[in-house]
Amino acid sequence: MALIVQKYGGSSVADADSIKRVAKRIAEAKRAGDDVVVVVSAMGDTTDELIDLAQQVTPLPPQREMDILLTAGERISMSLLAMAISNLGVEAQSFTGQQAGVITDSVHGKARIIDVSPSRIQQAVDAGAVAIVAGFQGVTQHTNDVTTLGRGGSDTTAVALAAALGADVCEIYTDVDGVFTADPRIVPSARKIDRITYDEMLEMAASGAKVLVLRCVEYARRYGVPVHVRSSFSTHTGTLVTDAATEEGAPMEQPIIAGVAHDRSEAKITIVDVPDVPGKAARIFEVVAGSGVNLDMIVQNVSVAATGRTDISFTLPATDGAAATAALTEHQPDIGFTSLQYDDTIGKLSLIGAGMKSHPGVSARLFAALSEAGINIEMISTSEIRISVVTRADQLDDAVRAVHTAFELDSADDQAVVYGGTGR
Ligand code: ASP
Ligand code: MG
Repeated sequence: MALIVQKYGGSSVADADSIKRVAKRIAEAKRAGDDVVVVVSAMGDTTDELIDLAQQVTPLPPQREMDILLTAGERISMSLLAMAISNLGVEAQSFTGQQAGVITDSVHGKARIIDVSPSRIQQAVDAGAVAIVAGFQGVTQHTNDVTTLGRGGSDTTAVALAAALGADVCEIYTDVDGVFTADPRIVPSARKIDRITYDEMLEMAASGAKVLVLRCVEYARRYGVPVHVRSSFSTHTGTLVTDAATEEGAPMEQPIIAGVAHDRSEAKITIVDVPDVPGKAARIFEVVAGSGVNLDMIVQNVSVAATGRTDISFTLPATDGAAATAALTEHQPDIGFTSLQYDDTIGKLSLIGAGMKSHPGVSARLFAALSEAGINIEMISTSEIRISVVTRADQLDDAVRAVHTAFELDSADDQAVVYGGTGR
Protein backbone atom coordinates (compact mmCIF):
# COMPACT_ATOMS: atom_id res chain seq x y z
CA MET A 1 0.00 0.00 0.00
CA ALA A 2 1.33 3.41 -0.94
CA LEU A 3 0.53 6.96 0.09
CA ILE A 4 -0.12 9.05 -2.99
CA VAL A 5 -0.57 12.79 -3.13
CA GLN A 6 -2.52 13.82 -6.23
CA LYS A 7 -2.89 17.41 -7.37
CA TYR A 8 -5.57 18.49 -9.83
CA GLY A 9 -5.23 21.83 -11.60
CA GLY A 10 -8.02 24.25 -12.44
CA SER A 11 -8.67 22.92 -15.94
CA SER A 12 -9.15 19.40 -14.51
CA VAL A 13 -11.97 20.62 -12.25
CA ALA A 14 -13.41 23.34 -14.48
CA ASP A 15 -17.08 22.36 -14.10
CA ALA A 16 -19.40 19.91 -12.33
CA ASP A 17 -18.83 17.15 -14.88
CA SER A 18 -15.05 17.51 -14.62
CA ILE A 19 -15.28 17.35 -10.85
CA LYS A 20 -17.26 14.12 -11.12
CA ARG A 21 -14.74 12.68 -13.58
CA VAL A 22 -11.83 13.52 -11.28
CA ALA A 23 -13.76 12.15 -8.28
CA LYS A 24 -14.06 8.82 -10.09
CA ARG A 25 -10.31 8.69 -10.65
CA ILE A 26 -9.64 9.43 -7.01
CA ALA A 27 -12.16 6.84 -5.84
CA GLU A 28 -10.51 4.25 -8.11
CA ALA A 29 -7.07 4.98 -6.64
CA LYS A 30 -8.49 4.66 -3.15
CA ARG A 31 -10.33 1.43 -3.97
CA ALA A 32 -7.13 0.00 -5.42
CA GLY A 33 -5.84 0.09 -1.85
CA ASP A 34 -3.67 3.20 -1.70
CA ASP A 35 -4.00 6.05 0.76
CA VAL A 36 -4.83 9.18 -1.19
CA VAL A 37 -4.42 12.84 -0.32
CA VAL A 38 -5.63 15.29 -2.96
CA VAL A 39 -4.64 18.90 -3.49
CA VAL A 40 -6.95 20.90 -5.69
CA SER A 41 -6.80 24.26 -7.50
CA ALA A 42 -9.70 26.63 -8.04
CA MET A 43 -12.16 25.69 -10.81
CA GLY A 44 -11.13 26.78 -14.31
CA ASP A 45 -10.28 30.47 -14.50
CA THR A 46 -11.83 31.28 -11.10
CA THR A 47 -8.66 32.89 -9.74
CA ASP A 48 -8.38 35.23 -12.74
CA GLU A 49 -12.07 36.08 -12.45
CA LEU A 50 -11.68 36.92 -8.76
CA ILE A 51 -8.71 39.16 -9.60
CA ASP A 52 -10.79 40.91 -12.30
CA LEU A 53 -13.60 41.37 -9.81
CA ALA A 54 -11.30 42.97 -7.25
CA GLN A 55 -9.95 45.32 -9.95
CA GLN A 56 -13.48 46.48 -10.62
CA VAL A 57 -13.90 47.40 -6.96
CA THR A 58 -10.59 49.18 -6.50
CA PRO A 59 -7.45 49.69 -8.58
CA LEU A 60 -5.21 48.80 -5.61
CA PRO A 61 -6.78 46.07 -3.50
CA PRO A 62 -5.07 45.58 -0.12
CA GLN A 63 -2.97 42.42 -0.42
CA ARG A 64 -4.28 40.88 2.76
CA GLU A 65 -7.86 41.08 1.48
CA MET A 66 -6.77 39.89 -1.96
CA ASP A 67 -5.42 36.71 -0.38
CA ILE A 68 -8.62 36.01 1.51
CA LEU A 69 -10.58 36.58 -1.69
CA LEU A 70 -8.42 34.29 -3.83
CA THR A 71 -8.36 31.41 -1.33
CA ALA A 72 -12.15 31.27 -1.70
CA GLY A 73 -11.63 29.72 -5.14
CA GLU A 74 -9.95 26.61 -3.73
CA ARG A 75 -12.58 26.30 -0.99
CA ILE A 76 -15.24 25.92 -3.64
CA SER A 77 -13.43 23.22 -5.59
CA MET A 78 -12.28 21.27 -2.52
CA SER A 79 -15.75 20.97 -0.99
CA LEU A 80 -17.43 20.09 -4.28
CA LEU A 81 -14.79 17.45 -4.95
CA ALA A 82 -15.25 15.94 -1.48
CA MET A 83 -19.00 15.78 -2.09
CA ALA A 84 -18.54 14.12 -5.47
CA ILE A 85 -16.23 11.49 -3.98
CA SER A 86 -18.61 10.81 -1.08
CA ASN A 87 -21.36 10.34 -3.64
CA LEU A 88 -19.35 7.44 -5.06
CA GLY A 89 -19.37 5.73 -1.67
CA VAL A 90 -15.82 6.68 -0.70
CA GLU A 91 -15.38 8.77 2.42
CA ALA A 92 -13.79 12.16 1.72
CA GLN A 93 -13.18 15.29 3.78
CA SER A 94 -11.91 18.65 2.63
CA PHE A 95 -9.51 20.94 4.48
CA THR A 96 -8.31 24.51 4.05
CA GLY A 97 -4.59 25.26 3.94
CA GLN A 98 -4.76 26.31 7.57
CA GLN A 99 -6.45 23.07 8.63
CA ALA A 100 -3.83 21.14 6.69
CA GLY A 101 -1.11 22.85 8.74
CA VAL A 102 0.45 24.89 5.92
CA ILE A 103 2.39 27.67 7.68
CA THR A 104 3.91 30.45 5.57
CA ASP A 105 5.79 33.70 5.93
CA SER A 106 3.71 36.86 5.76
CA VAL A 107 4.42 38.02 2.19
CA HIS A 108 0.89 38.28 0.85
CA GLY A 109 0.47 37.17 -2.74
CA LYS A 110 3.70 35.18 -2.85
CA ALA A 111 4.16 33.64 0.57
CA ARG A 112 6.75 30.93 1.12
CA ILE A 113 5.91 27.77 3.01
CA ILE A 114 8.00 27.57 6.18
CA ASP A 115 6.45 24.50 7.76
CA VAL A 116 3.80 21.88 7.11
CA SER A 117 2.29 20.01 10.08
CA PRO A 118 -0.39 17.88 8.52
CA SER A 119 -1.58 16.01 11.63
CA ARG A 120 -5.22 16.66 10.79
CA ILE A 121 -4.67 15.23 7.30
CA GLN A 122 -2.85 12.19 8.68
CA GLN A 123 -5.79 11.56 11.04
CA ALA A 124 -8.27 11.65 8.19
CA VAL A 125 -6.12 9.26 6.16
CA ASP A 126 -5.68 6.92 9.13
CA ALA A 127 -9.43 6.88 9.56
CA GLY A 128 -9.73 5.66 5.96
CA ALA A 129 -10.85 8.87 4.30
CA VAL A 130 -9.54 10.63 1.23
CA ALA A 131 -8.30 14.05 2.39
CA ILE A 132 -8.88 16.92 -0.04
CA VAL A 133 -6.69 19.95 0.62
CA ALA A 134 -7.12 23.45 -0.80
CA GLY A 135 -3.99 24.30 -2.78
CA PHE A 136 -2.17 27.64 -3.03
CA GLN A 137 -2.89 28.79 0.53
CA GLY A 138 -1.62 28.83 4.07
CA VAL A 139 -1.59 30.96 7.19
CA THR A 140 1.10 33.05 8.80
CA GLN A 141 2.79 31.64 11.85
CA HIS A 142 1.95 34.24 14.47
CA THR A 143 -1.04 36.20 13.23
CA ASN A 144 -3.00 33.44 11.47
CA ASP A 145 -3.50 35.69 8.48
CA VAL A 146 -4.49 33.89 5.31
CA THR A 147 -1.80 33.91 2.60
CA THR A 148 -1.46 32.67 -0.97
CA LEU A 149 1.64 31.13 -2.49
CA GLY A 150 1.63 32.93 -5.85
CA ARG A 151 0.01 31.89 -9.13
CA GLY A 152 0.14 28.18 -9.74
CA GLY A 153 0.95 27.64 -6.07
CA SER A 154 -1.13 24.48 -5.71
CA ASP A 155 1.77 22.51 -7.20
CA THR A 156 3.89 23.71 -4.30
CA THR A 157 1.22 22.77 -1.76
CA ALA A 158 1.10 19.26 -3.21
CA VAL A 159 4.85 18.69 -3.07
CA ALA A 160 5.16 20.23 0.41
CA LEU A 161 2.38 18.01 1.68
CA ALA A 162 3.91 14.96 0.01
CA ALA A 163 7.22 15.73 1.73
CA ALA A 164 5.60 16.28 5.14
CA LEU A 165 3.51 13.10 4.89
CA GLY A 166 6.39 11.03 3.51
CA ALA A 167 4.31 10.16 0.44
CA ASP A 168 5.66 7.70 -2.11
CA VAL A 169 4.91 9.95 -5.04
CA CYS A 170 3.35 13.30 -5.82
CA GLU A 171 1.20 13.10 -8.95
CA ILE A 172 0.49 16.44 -10.63
CA TYR A 173 -2.55 16.10 -12.88
CA THR A 174 -2.83 18.66 -15.62
CA ASP A 175 -4.31 19.19 -19.09
CA VAL A 176 -1.39 17.76 -21.06
CA ASP A 177 0.25 14.31 -20.86
CA GLY A 178 3.37 15.47 -19.06
CA VAL A 179 6.35 17.72 -19.57
CA PHE A 180 6.99 18.28 -23.27
CA THR A 181 10.09 19.25 -25.23
CA ALA A 182 8.27 22.57 -25.88
CA ASP A 183 4.86 23.99 -25.10
CA PRO A 184 2.50 21.83 -27.18
CA ARG A 185 0.26 24.86 -27.64
CA ILE A 186 3.01 26.37 -29.81
CA VAL A 187 4.78 23.25 -31.08
CA PRO A 188 2.21 20.53 -31.81
CA SER A 189 5.03 18.13 -32.70
CA ALA A 190 6.59 18.46 -29.23
CA ARG A 191 7.49 15.15 -27.61
CA LYS A 192 6.57 14.04 -24.11
CA ILE A 193 9.64 13.63 -21.92
CA ASP A 194 9.57 10.35 -19.98
CA ARG A 195 12.03 11.37 -17.32
CA ILE A 196 13.70 14.66 -16.46
CA THR A 197 16.07 15.65 -13.65
CA TYR A 198 15.17 18.15 -10.95
CA ASP A 199 17.91 20.45 -12.25
CA GLU A 200 16.59 20.47 -15.80
CA MET A 201 13.02 20.89 -14.60
CA LEU A 202 14.12 23.80 -12.41
CA GLU A 203 15.65 25.54 -15.44
CA MET A 204 12.54 24.80 -17.52
CA ALA A 205 10.23 26.24 -14.86
CA ALA A 206 12.50 29.25 -14.27
CA SER A 207 12.58 29.86 -18.04
CA GLY A 208 8.84 30.08 -18.41
CA ALA A 209 7.58 26.49 -18.81
CA LYS A 210 4.24 26.65 -17.04
CA VAL A 211 3.67 22.95 -16.53
CA LEU A 212 5.17 23.08 -13.01
CA VAL A 213 5.69 26.13 -10.88
CA LEU A 214 9.32 26.90 -9.94
CA ARG A 215 8.95 26.70 -6.18
CA CYS A 216 7.33 23.30 -6.40
CA VAL A 217 10.37 21.96 -8.24
CA GLU A 218 12.74 23.60 -5.73
CA TYR A 219 10.81 21.98 -2.92
CA ALA A 220 10.72 18.58 -4.61
CA ARG A 221 14.47 18.67 -5.18
CA ARG A 222 15.24 19.73 -1.63
CA TYR A 223 13.15 16.94 -0.10
CA GLY A 224 13.68 14.35 -2.84
CA VAL A 225 9.97 14.02 -3.63
CA PRO A 226 9.44 12.12 -6.90
CA VAL A 227 6.96 14.07 -9.02
CA HIS A 228 4.87 12.45 -11.73
CA VAL A 229 3.36 15.01 -14.11
CA ARG A 230 0.46 13.51 -16.06
CA SER A 231 -2.93 14.22 -17.57
CA SER A 232 -6.21 13.91 -15.71
CA PHE A 233 -7.87 13.41 -19.10
CA SER A 234 -5.98 10.24 -20.09
CA THR A 235 -4.40 7.25 -18.38
CA HIS A 236 -1.01 7.62 -20.11
CA THR A 237 2.13 7.55 -18.03
CA GLY A 238 3.43 11.09 -17.81
CA THR A 239 6.84 12.55 -16.98
CA LEU A 240 8.80 11.54 -13.90
CA VAL A 241 10.81 14.37 -12.35
CA THR A 242 13.54 12.89 -10.24
CA ASP A 243 17.28 12.69 -9.51
CA ALA A 244 19.78 12.23 -12.29
CA ALA A 245 21.32 9.38 -10.30
CA THR A 246 20.61 5.90 -11.52
CA GLU A 247 17.89 3.68 -12.72
CA GLU A 248 18.42 0.10 -11.49
CA GLY A 249 22.10 0.67 -10.99
CA ALA A 250 22.84 2.00 -14.48
CA PRO A 251 23.49 5.71 -14.90
CA MET A 252 20.52 7.43 -16.40
CA GLU A 253 21.02 8.34 -20.01
CA GLN A 254 21.37 12.10 -20.42
CA PRO A 255 19.96 13.46 -23.63
CA ILE A 256 21.86 16.54 -24.75
CA ILE A 257 18.74 18.69 -24.84
CA ALA A 258 15.71 18.23 -22.62
CA GLY A 259 13.59 20.95 -24.15
CA VAL A 260 12.92 24.50 -25.28
CA ALA A 261 11.11 26.84 -22.90
CA HIS A 262 9.75 30.29 -23.66
CA ASP A 263 8.68 33.27 -21.64
CA ARG A 264 6.63 36.23 -22.75
CA SER A 265 6.25 37.83 -19.34
CA GLU A 266 9.50 39.78 -19.16
CA ALA A 267 10.51 43.30 -20.07
CA LYS A 268 13.88 44.90 -20.79
CA ILE A 269 15.29 48.06 -19.28
CA THR A 270 18.31 49.74 -20.86
CA ILE A 271 20.13 52.38 -18.88
CA VAL A 272 21.91 54.61 -21.35
CA ASP A 273 25.24 56.35 -20.83
CA VAL A 274 26.26 55.13 -17.39
CA PRO A 275 29.67 56.45 -16.24
CA ASP A 276 32.02 53.44 -16.57
CA VAL A 277 33.59 53.65 -13.13
CA PRO A 278 33.62 51.17 -10.23
CA GLY A 279 30.47 51.12 -8.14
CA LYS A 280 27.89 52.18 -10.73
CA ALA A 281 26.57 48.67 -11.45
CA ALA A 282 26.42 48.01 -7.72
CA ARG A 283 24.43 51.20 -7.22
CA ILE A 284 22.01 50.45 -10.08
CA PHE A 285 21.23 46.97 -8.86
CA GLU A 286 20.96 48.10 -5.23
CA VAL A 287 18.29 50.54 -6.34
CA VAL A 288 16.49 47.85 -8.37
CA ALA A 289 16.68 45.31 -5.53
CA GLY A 290 15.47 47.99 -3.11
CA SER A 291 12.25 48.23 -5.11
CA GLY A 292 11.63 44.53 -4.48
CA VAL A 293 12.32 43.49 -8.07
CA ASN A 294 13.97 40.21 -9.08
CA LEU A 295 15.93 40.59 -12.25
CA ASP A 296 16.99 38.01 -14.75
CA MET A 297 19.57 38.66 -17.49
CA ILE A 298 22.11 41.47 -17.29
CA VAL A 299 24.26 42.76 -20.13
CA GLN A 300 26.82 45.55 -19.98
CA ASN A 301 28.27 46.90 -23.20
CA VAL A 302 31.92 47.55 -23.84
CA SER A 303 32.60 51.07 -22.72
CA VAL A 304 33.21 53.61 -25.47
CA ALA A 305 36.84 54.53 -24.75
CA ALA A 306 36.43 58.16 -25.82
CA THR A 307 33.55 58.87 -23.47
CA GLY A 308 34.14 56.37 -20.66
CA ARG A 309 30.44 55.61 -20.65
CA THR A 310 28.49 52.42 -21.19
CA ASP A 311 24.96 51.02 -21.51
CA ILE A 312 23.56 48.43 -19.12
CA SER A 313 20.50 46.35 -20.00
CA PHE A 314 18.62 43.87 -17.89
CA THR A 315 15.41 41.89 -18.04
CA LEU A 316 12.81 41.63 -15.30
CA PRO A 317 9.18 40.52 -14.92
CA ALA A 318 7.05 43.04 -16.84
CA THR A 319 4.80 43.28 -13.79
CA ASP A 320 7.75 44.83 -11.92
CA GLY A 321 8.55 47.27 -14.73
CA ALA A 322 6.83 50.30 -13.22
CA ALA A 323 8.45 49.82 -9.79
CA ALA A 324 11.96 49.42 -11.22
CA THR A 325 11.61 52.35 -13.62
CA ALA A 326 10.34 54.64 -10.87
CA ALA A 327 13.16 53.67 -8.50
CA LEU A 328 15.85 54.17 -11.14
CA THR A 329 14.45 57.49 -12.30
CA GLU A 330 14.44 58.73 -8.74
CA HIS A 331 18.16 57.91 -8.48
CA GLN A 332 19.11 59.18 -11.96
CA PRO A 333 21.05 62.19 -10.57
CA ASP A 334 23.33 60.18 -8.29
CA ILE A 335 23.83 57.27 -10.73
CA GLY A 336 24.44 59.75 -13.55
CA PHE A 337 22.93 58.03 -16.60
CA THR A 338 21.37 60.06 -19.43
CA SER A 339 18.20 58.12 -20.18
CA LEU A 340 16.31 54.92 -19.59
CA GLN A 341 14.53 52.78 -22.18
CA TYR A 342 11.72 50.43 -21.29
CA ASP A 343 10.67 47.66 -23.68
CA ASP A 344 8.03 45.07 -22.87
CA THR A 345 7.72 43.63 -26.37
CA ILE A 346 10.45 41.06 -25.85
CA GLY A 347 10.36 37.28 -25.66
CA LYS A 348 12.84 34.86 -24.14
CA LEU A 349 13.72 31.46 -25.50
CA SER A 350 15.73 28.98 -23.41
CA LEU A 351 17.34 25.75 -24.50
CA ILE A 352 17.81 23.37 -21.59
CA GLY A 353 19.70 20.14 -21.18
CA ALA A 354 22.12 18.61 -18.70
CA GLY A 355 24.00 17.01 -21.59
CA MET A 356 25.09 20.37 -23.05
CA LYS A 357 27.78 20.60 -20.34
CA SER A 358 29.82 18.03 -22.19
CA HIS A 359 28.79 18.74 -25.77
CA PRO A 360 30.47 21.54 -27.71
CA GLY A 361 28.60 23.33 -30.46
CA VAL A 362 25.22 23.65 -28.82
CA SER A 363 25.23 27.46 -28.88
CA ALA A 364 26.49 27.56 -32.45
CA ARG A 365 23.62 25.32 -33.53
CA LEU A 366 21.11 27.42 -31.62
CA PHE A 367 22.31 30.69 -33.15
CA ALA A 368 22.41 29.15 -36.64
CA ALA A 369 18.81 27.98 -36.28
CA LEU A 370 17.70 31.46 -35.25
CA SER A 371 19.59 33.15 -38.05
CA GLU A 372 18.12 30.80 -40.65
CA ALA A 373 14.68 31.72 -39.34
CA GLY A 374 15.59 35.42 -39.69
CA ILE A 375 15.38 36.07 -35.97
CA ASN A 376 17.60 38.68 -34.37
CA ILE A 377 19.14 37.96 -30.96
CA GLU A 378 19.11 40.90 -28.55
CA MET A 379 20.61 39.37 -25.42
CA ILE A 380 22.23 36.08 -24.49
CA SER A 381 22.79 34.43 -21.15
CA THR A 382 23.95 30.97 -20.19
CA SER A 383 24.18 28.62 -17.24
CA GLU A 384 25.81 25.21 -17.14
CA ILE A 385 22.71 23.55 -18.54
CA ARG A 386 20.83 26.41 -20.23
CA ILE A 387 21.24 28.97 -23.01
CA SER A 388 18.71 31.81 -23.15
CA VAL A 389 18.21 34.46 -25.80
CA VAL A 390 15.98 37.50 -25.96
CA THR A 391 14.09 38.14 -29.21
CA ARG A 392 11.21 40.34 -30.34
CA ALA A 393 7.99 39.07 -28.73
CA ASP A 394 6.24 38.59 -32.06
CA GLN A 395 9.05 36.34 -33.30
CA LEU A 396 9.14 34.12 -30.24
CA ASP A 397 6.81 31.37 -31.46
CA ASP A 398 8.74 31.04 -34.72
CA ALA A 399 11.98 30.98 -32.77
CA VAL A 400 10.76 28.17 -30.52
CA ARG A 401 9.65 26.09 -33.51
CA ALA A 402 12.90 26.67 -35.40
CA VAL A 403 15.08 25.71 -32.45
CA HIS A 404 12.92 22.71 -31.57
CA THR A 405 13.38 21.40 -35.11
CA ALA A 406 17.10 22.23 -35.26
CA PHE A 407 17.73 20.04 -32.23
CA GLU A 408 15.67 17.21 -33.69
CA LEU A 409 13.16 17.27 -30.90
CA ASP A 410 10.08 16.96 -33.13
CA SER A 411 8.06 13.81 -32.69
CA ALA A 412 7.83 11.70 -35.83
CA ASP A 413 4.48 10.15 -35.02
CA ASP A 414 1.76 11.57 -32.83
CA GLN A 415 0.84 15.17 -32.16
CA ALA A 416 0.80 16.39 -28.58
CA VAL A 417 -2.69 16.65 -27.15
CA VAL A 418 -3.90 19.65 -25.16
CA TYR A 419 -6.98 18.31 -23.40
CA GLY A 420 -8.32 21.40 -21.72
CA GLY A 421 -7.72 24.77 -20.21
CA THR A 422 -8.10 28.17 -21.76
CA GLY A 423 -4.36 28.82 -21.49
CA ARG A 424 -5.20 31.90 -19.48
N1 ASP B 1 -5.76 28.85 -8.36
C1 ASP B 1 -4.44 29.37 -8.27
C2 ASP B 1 -4.03 29.96 -9.61
O1 ASP B 1 -4.78 29.92 -10.56
C3 ASP B 1 -3.45 28.34 -7.82
C4 ASP B 1 -3.21 27.20 -8.78
O2 ASP B 1 -3.92 27.06 -9.77
O3 ASP B 1 -2.30 26.43 -8.53
O4 ASP B 1 -2.95 30.46 -9.72
MG1 MG C 1 -5.24 27.86 -11.70
